[in-house]
Amino acid sequence: MNGQQIVHCPQCGGNKVKSNAKGAFQALLALGILFCITIIGIPLGIAFFIGAFIVKNSKIRLKFLCLECKHDFKIDQDTYHAYSKAIQ
Ligand SMILES: [Zn+2]
Repeated sequence: MNGQQIVHCPQCGGNKVKSNAKGAFQALLALGILFCITIIGIPLGIAFFIGAFIVKNSKIRLKFLCLECKHDFKIDQDTYHAYSKAIQ
């Protein structure tokens, strides 16, 4: 992920950036799976899944954080798509 050349920090020009939404999405998904293991946790698990997909499709995903200087910034939709492809 650190090798991507698509999203650069507007402040320091570094390419060590991360999308806040990606981590949130993975965390919510993991929690959802965890809750679905127990029978009583399933409704809660489903709520986490829904939350995960809301995060994934919302504008939050366009927010990035620079790991070098801790500056957060937004990118546009097209840049995000290019970035998603690059890090896979
Ligand atoms: Zn920076």
